[in-house]
Amino acid sequence: MRLPRRPGTPTVRRARRTPLVAKRGGTVQPRRRPRHVIVLEDIHRTFELGDVRVHALRGVSLSIDRGDLVAIMGTSGSGKSTLMNTLGCLDIPTSGRYLLDGIDVRHYDDDDLADIRNRKLGFVFQSFNLVPRTSALANVELPLAYAGLARAKRRARALAALAEVGMSDRVEHLPSELSGGQQQRVAVARALVTNPALILADEPTGNLDSRSTADVLEIFGRLNLEGRTIVLITHEPEVAERAKRVIRLADGRVIDDVRQAAVSDAPPGLGGTFQGQHSHR
Ligand code: ADP
Ligand code: MG
Repeated sequence: MRLPRRPGTPTVRRARRTPLVAKRGGTVQPRRRPRHVIVLEDIHRTFELGDVRVHALRGVSLSIDRGDLVAIMGTSGSGKSTLMNTLGCLDIPTSGRYLLDGIDVRHYDDDDLADIRNRKLGFVFQSFNLVPRTSALANVELPLAYAGLARAKRRARALAALAEVGMSDRVEHLPSELSGGQQQRVAVARALVTNPALILADEPTGNLDSRSTADVLEIFGRLNLEGRTIVLITHEPEVAERAKRVIRLADGRVIDDVRQAAVSDAPPGLGGTFQGQHSHR
């Protein structure tokens, strides 16, 4: 049944062995991690709707390097969310193989997948998805509580993550007391607090004004510069411009795959001036 291993998509690859994973909050990543955070081999996803079969993904094969910053683009219905759900272990493909951080996710049951999601993945959504009536700090602590971390450690790491996104002066604020851009920055802190192998973002700037979009892109760029691997879905060309690699989907297939900057380079257009102090909004 299994298809032969494929070499992946024809992108420029640099032989580079520099350890890229940031060591934050005392979490030291093992050095023997595979170079590819993601390997997809001939992924198909078919939905059955009565008599109708919808082919959301029709044979997607690609690999994503550790330390890359990848934008996924495509028109509505092209399969972007299905691909993201696959990458996030929220959806199981109909066929094909998915290796996340060297692990074939098919071998895991729902509990294991929930655990993998919590430990290896950070999610950022268009609508922020913060827990209402709960402080920014408590929102960011939440994934660590699931991971069973002691309270003091949780707090310290959540505060460090909030500092990374320039939200140190808003830790006790409720989501309703924050602007959209600030809420999304808290959501990014929540996504990175577990030190995941991969941050997945589905239209993270879709609900933001241009200034907040710039802030969030600056944060993603900086996190990537620290070695974090980020895959984001976007409709906006100005967001895709800031990625190192842009993958386009159409009708469930990869139709274009362009490298805009080497994995080892800084993300394009990274201003480098962000001080984490946009507290006037
Ligand atoms: P995009 O995010 O690019 O807009 P999606 O991945 O959401 O695209 O959808 C791709 C195709 O798969 C669409 O035709 C959509 O209608 C279909 N699809 C997605 N999810 C489901 C589902 N749960 N049940 C049936 N069809 C689905
Ligand atoms: Mg979608």
